Amino acid sequence: MEESKELLKPIRSLFCACCGGFTRGRQWFNQDTGYGICSDCIAWLRKPKSETGPPRESEDYIRDCYGIEGINFNVTDKAQVSYGRPSHSINPILNPIN
Ligand SMILES: [Zn+2]
Repeated sequence: MEESKELLKPIRSLFCACCGGFTRGRQWFNQDTGYGICSDCIAWLRKPKSETGPPRESEDYIRDCYGIEGINFNVTDKAQVSYGRPSHSINPILNPIN
């Protein structure tokens, strides 16, 4: 499945191809290396141009250009946000030597 293949890629810092800001996500093959899209710009692309109009861009277009939501952009994978080693591996009370 395409989704699971994408999930193997690391979440990294990316430039937003739309506004040039920083965002986090997984590289999508249709974007230049180091580029993705930020959540603000995705939200903007989904907004209609006028009150009754269709969204600026279709979900198909967004998928083609920017990838899968939650995987390539708007990532929610907290497991990748890690500061140092997990405490149980260095805590002697939880990991007694004998
Ligand atoms: Zn942006």
